[in-house]
Amino acid sequence: MNKKINNQFRGREADAQSRQAITQLLEGMPRRRDLLIEFLHRLQDEYHHISADHITALAEELKLSTTEVYEVATFYHHFDVVKDQHPAPPELTVRVCQSITCEMYGAEHLMAELEQQLPRHKVRIQPVPCVGRCHSAPVAVVGTNPAEQATAKKITAMIARGETAVTTLRPYITLDAYRRTAGYQLLKKCHDGDLTRAYVISQMQAAGLRGLGGAGFPAGKKWDILSQQKKPRLIAVNIDEGEPGTFKDRYYLERDPHRLLEGVLIAAWAIEAEAIYMYLRDEYAECRQIMQHELAALANDKTLQTPQIILRRGAGAYICGEESAMIESIEGKRGMPRLRPPFVAEVGLFGKPTLEHNMETLYWVRDILERGPAWFLSHGRNGRQGLRSFSVSGRINRPGVHLAPAGITLNELIAEYCGGMLAGHQLYGYFPGGASGGILPASLADLPLDFDTLHEAGCFIGSAAIIVLSQHDSARQLALNCMRFFAHESCGQCTPCRVGTAKAVKLMQREKWDVALLEELCAAMADASICGLGQAAPNPLRSAINHFPQEFAK
Ligand code: SF4
Repeated sequence: MNKKINNQFRGREADAQSRQAITQLLEGMPRRRDLLIEFLHRLQDEYHHISADHITALAEELKLSTTEVYEVATFYHHFDVVKDQHPAPPELTVRVCQSITCEMYGAEHLMAELEQQLPRHKVRIQPVPCVGRCHSAPVAVVGTNPAEQATAKKITAMIARGETAVTTLRPYITLDAYRRTAGYQLLKKCHDGDLTRAYVISQMQAAGLRGLGGAGFPAGKKWDILSQQKKPRLIAVNIDEGEPGTFKDRYYLERDPHRLLEGVLIAAWAIEAEAIYMYLRDEYAECRQIMQHELAALANDKTLQTPQIILRRGAGAYICGEESAMIESIEGKRGMPRLRPPFVAEVGLFGKPTLEHNMETLYWVRDILERGPAWFLSHGRNGRQGLRSFSVSGRINRPGVHLAPAGITLNELIAEYCGGMLAGHQLYGYFPGGASGGILPASLADLPLDFDTLHEAGCFIGSAAIIVLSQHDSARQLALNCMRFFAHESCGQCTPCRVGTAKAVKLMQREKWDVALLEELCAAMADASICGLGQAAPNPLRSAINHFPQEFAK
């Protein structure tokens, strides 16, 4: 805590008004430390900011030090902590996405237009990282209401109509509708003893399903490891998809939430988990509404025995997509990755063995068990097996989530699933795995897209977020966009990442890149950072230098 902040809190006692506000906001909630982020959300939602008095009163109520509350509140981008004598931000925030595809589609222009058109004392305009809607770039979020394919005109009209919160949801498969397609029958078979745990785990292993959040660890093997850990065991579902370019989890959750929930419940049964925590990205307000509604419907359905399912809300920190950072966040702390070992499978959430999975991995459990591992493996191309959900955006005719065979090449994906390149655009390059996965040139668009196939080219598929570039784009410029993102999202815990990403941004902003110095920096980040963020941050930078030399020829 710096000196100024320290002075703000030293010897401070909460005033009566703040104490009362906290008591009212927390009514009916247990005063537990792990709920700290939920409490902070209540404050932010109610007052549109969090004051020093709020922090002091909340710390008193929870019997924590003000430092502990302050450091958590200031870690997350979605909490506006306001110092004494500083004005609170306006009630309405318009968040304009600055990530790769939005930059390609004119995010900067949109920001400038909004700054001119909107009354700044009433509306705050914030540049933000990816909001998970790259297929509609450029994108802005008005309050919690996404303005897809945003224009300044559209956003001002939305604000004039008072559309600041998500009120209407697109039609999705509800519990009743899901049940009409034999939904939860598989879970019932598990509970009734028609299937054994060993059989289910063996089927998951036979399907070869790998973690679809990016790490690619075999799901069945994880279940097997967890089933051998001491009890009690927990499940933590990662729905914090924040990798720029990725929006597949949102896509599935907005359409078929119970397919995920049945997968989670089968996993919980298979490893005998006592509770399930679902960590949902705060940017996905519609998904939160859907989940709240459908979890309540599930809890009221007395035909199903389910362990406790707890929905937790992220607060705008990309790093919480890292499994141990997510666990810290669920425990009500700053989302700082843990050193491993021990692994979360052994010592995870609240110190208990935890099965941690990306949402999409669990989404496929029902299909794999009903149709069999052979069905899943029957898909695939170019020597690879399985299915992949590609989030595709950029210079193509049909951006969106495309379910395609694992191992498909970019050229095949564009031709068969994306309706070809946009008129007037020729393929120049592509991000195969969001900001972290590096950038490949058009000459490598015939590589199979799958885990382990892109390493020789210095890239990886990660969460299968494909961003297609044309001759109108610059790999060098977009690599800088990525580095700015990493610098913004670094949790700050380790020096190579915290200092390295910030320094790299400065060097990359220069007209002429000092390639030798940048490579030295990349080596330090990749070799000495604690977690994947710092380790992968050099990928786009190195890719730009290695695969797009023509951009540095001047
Ligand atoms: Fe935090 Fe970066 Fe270190 Fe990861 S690599 S722990 S994000 S500072």
